[in-house]
Amino acid sequence: MGRLRIGFYGLTGCAGCQLSVIFNEDELLDIIKLFDIRAFPFIKASNDEERFDLVFMEGLVASPHDIETLTRIRAKTKTLVALGACAHSGCIPAYRSFTLKENYEHLLYSKAKDIADVEPEPISKHVKVDYVLPGCPPDKKEILHFMKEIALGKTPKFNHNPVCVECRLNGNDCLLIHGKPCMGPITSGGCHAVCVTGGFECWGCRGPTGDANYKAYIALLKKKGYKKEFIKTRMMMFAGKIQPEEMKACLQ
Ligand code: SF4
Ligand code: SF4
Ligand code: SF4
Repeated sequence: MGRLRIGFYGLTGCAGCQLSVIFNEDELLDIIKLFDIRAFPFIKASNDEERFDLVFMEGLVASPHDIETLTRIRAKTKTLVALGACAHSGCIPAYRSFTLKENYEHLLYSKAKDIADVEPEPISKHVKVDYVLPGCPPDKKEILHFMKEIALGKTPKFNHNPVCVECRLNGNDCLLIHGKPCMGPITSGGCHAVCVTGGFECWGCRGPTGDANYKAYIALLKKKGYKKEFIKTRMMMFAGKIQPEEMKACLQ
């Protein structure tokens, strides 16, 4: 079997996920030898789109151009990976669906006001997605590990334990106990609790865990003095477009 033909693409996003691939400079050069990189428009002038075994897609769908790119590339690849939170959940750009226009209108570039857009959505709302590498941005080492597993013909496995598990392993003091609205208990881990270890609460960028107790979490935040609207805004920030039914019910 020859090397897998792979591509890296970006839809609407900040390119931070693609940079997370590139900034793996210490190991990336060894790993890319296992692949045939046919397309990476962000850094390559010449790109071959004939067919792919694997494509990493960054960004959410927010314009007709995104829909065209996504459907065109999906049709040419066997396996599609949602690279990062925008592709996975719509991330913060999709939050505009849940907030009033006056809350973000002043942030728009004047030229952007004339750009055709569509309802912001994660890519799974438009095409089949085979794997998700979550996070804003995704963990650099997780991307490399995923690539190695695929190159070896294995089925990659993901960490769905709450962020709290890795946080406790890191020996961090619990921010939630100290009254910070940390979303670690309801968020999928795999990031080594990088934010908490750096002194910031988890905002939930890797998306909800499968078996989170949302009711207990919300009750705890209320006990800490947070209002329902604050809690809802925080929980919808990254997960608004991919809310599990239980979360939806708790936020009614
Ligand atoms: S997930 Fe985060 S880092 Fe990646 S494109 Fe979206 S905003 Fe940028
Ligand atoms: S700081 Fe956050 S992630 Fe860490 S244990 Fe407390 S709630 Fe969990
Ligand atoms: S700690 Fe939370 S916000 Fe930070 S990277 Fe992990 S999942 Fe994302």
